[in-house]
Amino acid sequence: MFRPSLRPLVVAVVAAGGVAAAGVRLPAQAITTAEIDGDLRFLSSDLLEGRAPATRGGQLASAYIASALQVAGLAPGYKGSFLQPVSIDVVSADQSAIRVSVSGAATATLRDPEDVVVWSGAATESAAAHGELVFVGYGVSASEYRWDDFKGVDLAGKVLLILVNDPPATSAEPALFDGPAMTYYGRWTYKFEEAERRGAVGALIIHETERAGYPWHTVVGSWAKEQRMLPRDPALPAPLAMRGWITDSAATALLARAGLDLAALRTRAATRDFRPVATGITLDASIPSRVAHLASDNVVGMVPGRDPALRAQYVVFTAHWDHLGIGPPVNGDSIYNGAEDNASGVADALAMARAAAALPPARRPRRSLLFLFVTAEESGLLGSAYFAQHPPVPASALIADLNIDGGNLLGVVRDLTVLGEHKSTLGASLAAYVATRGLRLAPDAHPEKGYFYRSDHFSFARVGVPSVSIGPGTDFVGREPSWGIDQDDAYTAHRYHQPSDEYRPDFDLRGAAQLAEIVLGFGESLANAPTVPTWLPGAEFHRSGTTAAVQ
Ligand SMILES: [Zn+2]
Repeated sequence: MFRPSLRPLVVAVVAAGGVAAAGVRLPAQAITTAEIDGDLRFLSSDLLEGRAPATRGGQLASAYIASALQVAGLAPGYKGSFLQPVSIDVVSADQSAIRVSVSGAATATLRDPEDVVVWSGAATESAAAHGELVFVGYGVSASEYRWDDFKGVDLAGKVLLILVNDPPATSAEPALFDGPAMTYYGRWTYKFEEAERRGAVGALIIHETERAGYPWHTVVGSWAKEQRMLPRDPALPAPLAMRGWITDSAATALLARAGLDLAALRTRAATRDFRPVATGITLDASIPSRVAHLASDNVVGMVPGRDPALRAQYVVFTAHWDHLGIGPPVNGDSIYNGAEDNASGVADALAMARAAAALPPARRPRRSLLFLFVTAEESGLLGSAYFAQHPPVPASALIADLNIDGGNLLGVVRDLTVLGEHKSTLGASLAAYVATRGLRLAPDAHPEKGYFYRSDHFSFARVGVPSVSIGPGTDFVGREPSWGIDQDDAYTAHRYHQPSDEYRPDFDLRGAAQLAEIVLGFGESLANAPTVPTWLPGAEFHRSGTTAAVQ
C-alpha cells in the first residue's frame, strides 16, 4: 500500500503506564497530513453535495469510505459487509392542519407555533392525542439522586406537562443533579422517553428561555418541520402520539383558568415531596402528516486483535459521515459541504484505520478495533443509535467508544476537549495518556449545555458502553492564548451548519494528524490494558441490565 509520507508527526507511540499493559510498546505508526488532506478534500467537495443520507452525494460518501476500508485491509465489520443498512422514517406534519385544543376545566385553542409546537411521536399519517393534562414537575425518576416525580401515579392515557432541564440544585445539596451541569434527566429526549415508559399518550415540555438555553424561535425552527426517526423497535413501549413544547405564557394562562398557579407548582416541583397534579383539563390534538422511508448505511471495518481470548472485545472509533446536503442558499451557495462537520473527523478516522490495519498481526493490540462511520447524526444521532441497538457483537463486548465530531484543522494544540471526561474512567485514562505527550485536557466550557448528550458517543453510553468525544482544545502552539477561542467563536458564528463550512487550502492539518494519532494511540492502549473502562458512580448509564431504554 502506497502512502505518501509528508511530514509524519510521530513515529512511535509508547503506551502510558497504568493505561496499557506494563512494558507494551506500540509499534511505529505514521499518519500523514497528505492522506487526511486527500480524504477531506474529496468528502467535502461540491461533488458530494453535502453528504445528506439517502441522497446521491451521501451514497457516494458511504461507498467511498467502504472502499477505503477495504483497500486499507480491514475486515468487513457487519455480517460480512462494510455496510450496515439503516432505515430512516421521515415524518412531515401538515403544519396548517395541526389542531390543538383543550376542554374541561379550561377551554381554549392552542395556536401552533405561537403557543405550542407539536409533532407526531411515531411514523404515522394521522396522529391524534386525547387525554387529561397532568403536571409532573420535572418528569424525572432517578434513583441515584433519590428523586421520583411520579410516586407511582398511573399516567396511562394522560398528556404530561413537564418542566424543562434538571431539578435545581440547592444550597443544602449543591451536587444535586450534578449542580450547574446538565444531566440526561434535563434533556428533552429523556422527558419524552420517560413519558413513554409511563404509558402517556402525549407530552408537552414547558419552554423557558433561560432554563432551556435557547429562545422559542429555536424550538419553532427545530421542531416545526420534518422529523426523522428510526423505525420503532417493537420491544419498546408504545410511542407518544404527540410530542411538543408549550410556551411558558401559554402554560401559565391555561393552568390559571383551571385555578392552578404555575409559579407555585414550579416551587413544589423543586422538592422530593412533589406528586403529579391532575389539572382537570383535557387536551385534544390531531397532527396530519406525510410519512416517507429512506435507506442509508453505516460503514464499519474491523482490525482483529492479536490475543485469542481478548480479540472478542472491541474498542470502537466513530465519526459521522453525513451532513446537511443541499439547502437554502447563503451568498449564492446552497451546498452544505460540512468540511469541519464532519469530513474532518472521517478523514482522521480513515487515517487511523489505515495505520491500524498496516500493523503486522503479531504487533496489533490484544483486543480488536472497530472503525465505524455513522449516518444521520444530523438527524438526531440515528445511525449511531441503530448501530448501538444492533451491534455486530453483543454490546457488552464493546469496551469503549472514542468519537470524533469535528477534527482539528487549525494546527498543533497543547490541550484537548473531552465530552464525558467525568462520566467514566476514560477521562482519567486519557488525561494520563496525553500527559505523556505533553498535552492536557481542557475543562468543558459549557457543562450546562449538555453537549455530552448531543454527539454519537452518547448512543453508546445509552447501551452501557463507556464513551467520549475527543476534539482539539483552544491552546495552539505558536498562537496567542485568545486565538483558539476566537477561532471557535468564528466557527460557531459564521460556518457551523452553513454552506461556508467548506474546504480551505489554508487548513493546517498537522493538528488533524496529531488528533488522529492521539485518539488511535489511546484506543490501542485501551485495547492492550489489563482492565476495561467503567462508568463512575453517579453517571446515568451503567452496564447493568437496567440500561436506559433506547428509541
Ligand atoms: Zn457533527
